[in-house]
This record gives sequence, C-alpha cells and structure tokens, in this order.
Amino acid sequence: MVPPPHKAETELVDPSDSSPVAIKPVVSQSQTESKPMALDLSHHLSIESKIRQKSLLKVSSSYLARDPELLSLAAGLPSPSLFPIEKITASVAIAKHESARDGLWKNDGLLPGMRRDLHKEKDSSLKGHSEYDLSGALQYEQGTGAKQLLKFLKRHTEIVHNPPYRDWDCIMTGGNTHAMETVFRMLINPGDYIVLEEFAFPETVEGLKPLRARMIGIDMDAEGMRSDSLELVLETWDEDARGGKRPGVLYVVPTGQNPTGATMSMQRRKEIYNTCVKYDLVIIEDDPYYFLQMSDYIPGQDTGAVQVPQTNDQFLASLLPSMLSIDTQGRVLRLDSFSKVAAPGLRCGWITGSDRFVERVLRHNEVGLQFPSGASMAVLHSMLTEAWGQDGYLDWLVNLRAEYTSRRNTLVSAMDKFLPREVCDWVVPSAGMFVWLRVHYAKHPHKDNGVEAVEKELFEAGIDNKVLILPGAWFKVKPETSDVFFRATFASVSANDMAVAIERFGEVLRKGFALQT
Ligand code: PLP
Repeated sequence: MVPPPHKAETELVDPSDSSPVAIKPVVSQSQTESKPMALDLSHHLSIESKIRQKSLLKVSSSYLARDPELLSLAAGLPSPSLFPIEKITASVAIAKHESARDGLWKNDGLLPGMRRDLHKEKDSSLKGHSEYDLSGALQYEQGTGAKQLLKFLKRHTEIVHNPPYRDWDCIMTGGNTHAMETVFRMLINPGDYIVLEEFAFPETVEGLKPLRARMIGIDMDAEGMRSDSLELVLETWDEDARGGKRPGVLYVVPTGQNPTGATMSMQRRKEIYNTCVKYDLVIIEDDPYYFLQMSDYIPGQDTGAVQVPQTNDQFLASLLPSMLSIDTQGRVLRLDSFSKVAAPGLRCGWITGSDRFVERVLRHNEVGLQFPSGASMAVLHSMLTEAWGQDGYLDWLVNLRAEYTSRRNTLVSAMDKFLPREVCDWVVPSAGMFVWLRVHYAKHPHKDNGVEAVEKELFEAGIDNKVLILPGAWFKVKPETSDVFFRATFASVSANDMAVAIERFGEVLRKGFALQT
C-alpha cells in the first residue's frame, strides 16, 4: 500500500524544465522563510533508530550552558594541559582560480607553488588567532562534529545546493562509507527491500548484507539509473510474490557513478525524485564525485587543453543540480565526503537532511563514531576557514576538476588508440574517476561458457599481460547481466602508465577474440 499522499506531494518537480537551478550565493532571511517545512517522514525510521535515546552524559552539559557559574564535577574530560600535542602545523596548497585556467596543474598533479603554513596551538583562541584551538580540537566534542567547522560546511552546502526547504541541517561523519552504514541502519529493518543501481560500489553492497537488506538492482544506461525501470519495479510491486513490502529507500550515486562513471542529467534526476515522491521513498544521495564534473572530451585534442569556467559563479552554475537541491520535502539524505576533494585519510564528511533525520544520526554518532578525529577537523578547519575561505575552496575545486578532466582525457584517448572497437565500447564519463568498458561477449569464441566465464577469462588474461582492470562481476547487484564489463580508473596513474596499461588490455582483447588487427 502506498501511504496516503502528503500535501506537498502535489508539488512535483517538472522534469521537462531544464532551466539551471539558480544558485544564490547569499540566501536571505526572507528566501528562507518562504521555503516549505520538510515532511514528517519518521515512519521510515528503523526499529533500531527509533529506540536510540539522547546520551545522558551529553544532557549534563546542557546545565553548564544554562548557568556559567556552575562548577562542574560532571563530565570526565581530560585536562587539555595534559594533552601531549602542543601544536599542529599544516602547510596548505593555495589554488588560485587562474592556475586552472593557465594550465598550471599538469598531468602528473604537481600542485601550484603557493603554500600557506597554518598553526593551531592549545591557546590559539585565547590569543585571538583562531576560533578553534588545539585544546578544543583534542577534547571530547559534540556528536555533530566541531561547530566551527560545521558552520563552514553548512554555508558551503547553502551556497552549492541551497536546499529548498527550511528545516535542514548538517552533521559530520567519518566519510561516506561511515555515513552510508549509519543511514542504512537508520532506515532499514532486517528483510526490508532497498533499490539501488544494478552495478554498485562494493562497500555499499557489503554494508547492506549484514543488515539483511534485500537489494533490487535497477537497470542503468549511459545516464545511470533508469527512471522508467525504477517506476516499473515500484508500480508493479507484488508484496506476496516478493515476500515483503515495497522498498522505502533508494540509494543512488548520481554523479560519476562508481563503477560505471555515469552521470544523471537534470531531467533524469527530476524523474527519479518524482518517482520517489510518488511511492514515498527516502533517497540516499551518495555523491563524493559531485565536484569532479568535467568539460567535454574532444577526440584528438591535446589532453591538457581543458575548458575552465571563468569565475566561481560560472563554475557553480555549470554543475548539475544535486538531488538535495530539488528536494522540497526533506526526503533526500545527501552524503558528502572530503575523500575525493581533499584526502581520504582525513576520514571526514557530512550528511545533509531534514532536522528530524539529522537528529537521529546525532543519536547514532553519540554511541558510535562520536565525531570525526579532532586532528582531522583541526587541519580541515585551518585549511578551509583560515587558508581558503568559501571562495578559495571553490578555487581549489576548479583546479581539481581541471586536473581530473585532463587525466580522463589521457585515459580515453589511449582507449581510442589501443582498444578494438569491433568488440568493445564505452561512454566517455563526464564526472568522477572511472571509465566503464563494455565488451561484446556474444562475439567471444567461448561465449557458450557464459558471461561470467568470459569476463573471468579476460580478467585473468589481463593479469598475465600485466594489467589489472576490475571485472563487472565485482560490482554486480542484479544477478543476471547481459554483457562483460570492466572498470578502469584514471585517478592516480601517470599518463604514461595509463597508455601502457590500456595498450596491454587492447592486446588481451585482440587475442581473446582472435582478431587479426
Ligand atoms: N561512495 C562511493 C560511491 C564511492 O565510490 C566511494 C569510494 O571510495 C565511497 C563512497 C567511499 O567514500 P569515503 O572515503 O568518504 O568513505
């Protein structure tokens, strides 16, 4: 049974409206007030999530906030005077917008020369040097993450996504793998169905299995998850035949999907969103590659010749809208991570969603992660707020995107040169770190052995020929697949190694398919 429509369900997004979402650098009070409130979607919470209570230890700190004269013998906080770390220094690269335009970053990722050294000491805030000092960063923190860093992240989220409802909030996580596990546990009871793309990030699948979630892989095309296939699955859902109720959660990677590299158009995003409104699904938008949206690939052009937006406003306007930015109901939980835009070892990210959902994540954080590492938050805070600022962060992202575009161009031009098109094809990715290669299994001499056997044979022949390229089977959600697939990445390999690796895989395909050329 579809629950009775909510009032706001009539406010569907028009999928044919392809006008760019207006990104307002400043969201005024009156704009915020004219936004609707999020729907109450708490019927989606799992039993586990509903049981979570506020930590009593955190309650004790609220008394201190009320009366500053209260002498506390309550919380077991170690004294900062006993922290053995006196100072953290971070030397941070400064990327100017112009450096991307002038092609200062070249294919092997040499960072632009400018640097700034930032220091955090135990008493930096007393000295007036920083709003967030080392005594605070190394101390127990609230489950939201450090408020000084969170303030920056909320403002960034507002600038980039401007969520179109009023009561949204952000909470920090240990990156998107952690965030995923948290929101899965928040929304899924054992035996529940969840929909996701037919090929998915293996950690997503491995995270769902122990929760005993039942996964439905939705067909994909060059734009990622197909909205017509999603609609069909939900519309024709038969509870008796499936042995369970219609899925209440959709997990999706809309930009530079892992493993396929697919990016959803604006129209597709709106169609998927509207379908989730119609059938009352919560959307988990796992979007670590959002800022790695690239300019077009032009065959034969110098791989480093990358178009760069002239200004940060143009950069923002060039980005596809996130699912969060079209969500008027508070049904999207957006997961952002510093892993792909700064460094994975920072283990830091954040979730954006309605207050109600964010409060449940907070209850989970209090008894799990607690908060991201203080050392990481201190470095990120220095980098983002003291070295870069909001505009400087966008400058960094513009440079990063130019660099990944150039790397993508290098890999794709090697594929153009070395792979036999008569037995394989690919879509040039417009975001992310991956190219998805389809190999025409039906033309393979051993096709009678089945798709998986042919894929395995080619994968092993690759290893023998000294190239590691991951087989589609490692990412499969749907049991059956029609073709053989491989995932190649251009993220961290040198231009020369990329070309050599692709040439080797070309040899594997020629030999495997017994081609003459
Ligand atoms: N989600 C997707 C779709 C990914 O491709 C990755 C890649 O590592 C992650 C999440 C992991 O992100 P994090 O390092 O933030 O945990």
